[in-house]
Amino acid sequence: MKKPKLRELAEAIKSVIKGPYTTKFPKVAPEIFPEFRGKPEFVEDNCVLCGACEKICPVDAIEARDIVNDDGSAKRVMFRNYARCIWCSMCSIYCTVGDGDIFGDKTGIKITNEFDLSTLDISSSNEEIESELVVCEKCGKPITTKKHLLWLAERLGSKAFSNQTLFLTKMQEMGLSDEEMAPPREEMLREDLNKILCPNCRRSAMMAEDWGF
Ligand code: SF4
Ligand code: SF4
Repeated sequence: MKKPKLRELAEAIKSVIKGPYTTKFPKVAPEIFPEFRGKPEFVEDNCVLCGACEKICPVDAIEARDIVNDDGSAKRVMFRNYARCIWCSMCSIYCTVGDGDIFGDKTGIKITNEFDLSTLDISSSNEEIESELVVCEKCGKPITTKKHLLWLAERLGSKAFSNQTLFLTKMQEMGLSDEEMAPPREEMLREDLNKILCPNCRRSAMMAEDWGF
């Protein structure tokens, strides 16, 4: 048998004295550093369900599901599949309402230190939050959530009054405008400009107003 090199011998002695590097997880909880990027979670109070994180997620772990019912009520559900998530934190860094601080109190998705998500119940590996969805008064297509429109109106201040969708949503929230929609009709009239419209229908209303088609 060859004699071990001195360096290997020193390492062997050191490891006998220092003990193993590995921990007895899950029996013994490991030490977690404060900046450890673990499980992302929606913060319901901050998130406006704008859907931007769905676009930024590199593995399609987040999905914005718009549900419009026959009675006209509508909601958006933000759904996260933890089985797909790679914990990259992009959704939190680029969150619309956040300031880039993934551990801060402004973001719509906070990054926790939690990492042990092992489970036999696959249904528990999902997360979802929901909020009221605003639909176009003309075509009935989803615009965005009421929370998102109110957040935009708040950020824009008096500039929000130049957009009737933002203005009316804000007025409705303050109880200064009727929430009941008029039954939709085929042709566009000037009064349609004063409705909650999706960008396509607002463009059509503007064209009808300015150009007559
Ligand atoms: S507010 Fe942030 S967390 Fe909420 S849907 Fe928009 S990007 Fe995602
Ligand atoms: S942490 Fe990364 S992979 Fe997970 S939901 Fe957010 S963006 Fe997607």
